[in-house]
Amino acid sequence: MTAVVLSIGSNLGDRLAHLQSVVDGLGDAVRAVSPVYETDAWGGVEQGPFLNAVVLADDPVLDCRGWLDRGQELERAAERVREVHWGPRTLDVDIVTCHDGADEVRSSDETLTLPHPLAHQRAFVLIPWLATDPAASLTVAGTRRPIAELLDGIDASERAGVRATDLVLTI
Ligand code: AMP
Repeated sequence: MTAVVLSIGSNLGDRLAHLQSVVDGLGDAVRAVSPVYETDAWGGVEQGPFLNAVVLADDPVLDCRGWLDRGQELERAAERVREVHWGPRTLDVDIVTCHDGADEVRSSDETLTLPHPLAHQRAFVLIPWLATDPAASLTVAGTRRPIAELLDGIDASERAGVRATDLVLTI
């Protein structure tokens, strides 16, 4: 049994529908979905704001790479075009953590780095995750840290940039 925390984002087209396509596509595997937040884009490319959310899911047979494949299938289904690095995208699915049983899987392979190497620095990952699983923790540089503590370490201005919305994803 593997369990994942997925960070999903969209800033192109029907953003909420793209996020909902992940929940629908994963079907019975979904355990919880976060509220939906709006976040200004990173990376210096002029583009519209993202909707972001976190999905908790598990599966009795899929391994962590299988989750990456599922995420990429969902990105393709949302007709993601990757024209500009850090540019706008219909759907981005990142694996934040993958547990195999009780063990947090660690990988430094660049095609699947686990835990996601930037997750602990990103308020748009930590805020929805904390709203969904307040007791969650994440291994950073070999040390397991509560995500509430990681979020406290992020600039207040960046935290304030992750805005709550009234939008809802339905399981
Ligand atoms: P992105 O631009 O964020 O969509 O990057 C996607 C690329 O990152 C793909 O080639 C993945 O193989 C790779 N990748 C490495 N680690 C992860 C991860 N934890 N979650 C999703 N993609 C990953």
